[in-house]
Amino acid sequence: MKLPSHLTVEGGHLHIGGRDIVDLAETYGTPLYVTDLDRIVGNFKRFTSALTAHYPAVQVLFAAKANGNLAVMRALAEQGAGADVFSSGELELALQAGMQPDRLLFNGSSKSPADLALAVETGVRVSVDSIDELRQLEAAAAEAGKSVEIAFRVNPALEVPTHPKIATGLKTSKFGIPAEEIVGAYAEALACEHIDPAGIHCHIGSQILEVEPFARAAAVMVEVAKEVTNLGAEIRFLDVGGGLGIPYHHDTDAAPTPEEYAAAVMPVFLQGIRDAGIDPALWVEPGRWLVGDSSVLVARVNSVKRAHRTFVNVDAGFNLLVRPAMYDSYHEVVVANKADRPADGTYTIAGPICETGDLLAQDRDLPAPEAGDLVAVLDAGAYGFAMSSQYNSRPRCAEVAVRGGKHALMRRAEDLGDVTAAMQEPAWQD
Ligand SMILES: *Cc1c(COP(=O)(O)O)cnc(C)c1O
Repeated sequence: MKLPSHLTVEGGHLHIGGRDIVDLAETYGTPLYVTDLDRIVGNFKRFTSALTAHYPAVQVLFAAKANGNLAVMRALAEQGAGADVFSSGELELALQAGMQPDRLLFNGSSKSPADLALAVETGVRVSVDSIDELRQLEAAAAEAGKSVEIAFRVNPALEVPTHPKIATGLKTSKFGIPAEEIVGAYAEALACEHIDPAGIHCHIGSQILEVEPFARAAAVMVEVAKEVTNLGAEIRFLDVGGGLGIPYHHDTDAAPTPEEYAAAVMPVFLQGIRDAGIDPALWVEPGRWLVGDSSVLVARVNSVKRAHRTFVNVDAGFNLLVRPAMYDSYHEVVVANKADRPADGTYTIAGPICETGDLLAQDRDLPAPEAGDLVAVLDAGAYGFAMSSQYNSRPRCAEVAVRGGKHALMRRAEDLGDVTAAMQEPAWQD
């Protein structure tokens, strides 16, 4: 199997960022997430320069929901990244990580009054998802005596080739304002005293392995930009969202590079803004592409069972990586301490959760795993730990960072005290 450059095999052991995963599992215990921060920084630089090669005014916003660890967000903040945040919690994290408020976009289709108040207070830009929300935000801004820059989230009504649960720009999706209502929305926003409709936003979906849908979305966006410019709006940022996929099947997925993505999107964007006579900043919101390949989830084999299939029962399941159960996602797996041995059979990696669907990887050709061996699940950096749970009263595992050849905890493992921490004896009220 092809490995990206930060993953290597030395002395039969899988390494990440030059560190032996077998040693890290010994030091920190399992299950364990290991994240190569240098890889994330490298991904960020590559993604950014692919776009700035076409147009200088580009701001990359990391989609914080993909990986909310502060060490990850700090590493990105140091490089100048902003963030697409989808909750008050993500907004606070981004600020804690040192991201500048003017590089944040507060997104969300169901913001509470407290979310809107926090957006106004922190001075971030807001992606507004409905007219109802616009009116509430105007009221919140008026009360604070402030003005808020907004974008509307446009629903571009596009079919995209990805799993239906992560296609977000379909006509039927809950996200965004229908394209035919968008001009009316800007007209209303222009009439609001405390709202500055300075941007346009869309996001068509995730894990998209073709560039053509992004070009189509960009075409819709510049068309909207033209119409609302004619209306009198001063469009200063155009946010085309995230969604570029990564090759989870290392040997067979043909994933577009950021350069190919830029080559498809940028001509549409540049021609469109020229036609509209505007020069907005281009904002992009990659999540998965920046962090997906940076992490492995390391699990130890508890037992092997020959049944209808041969099950390799490990100590991590969908409590720590839900993507296979939730989206039927594929992740490559490597027996980390037998990484140079040939496959000798077909194995299914099963987690410890009391659910039939708790399978991390099915029918894989591997060198015979035995109790005590380590299974590394690759490309677990996006929507991995971020979607973890304590289901089955399992404390979440630790996260270790590797950087410049060194390693360190970036999140300690939870224990049962963390599972019960917020529980209390009911203090009954009449
Ligand atoms: C999830 C999300 C992203 C990131 O998507 P990826 O597929 O991880 O790149 C970007 N923008 C918005 C609004 C999102 O909801």
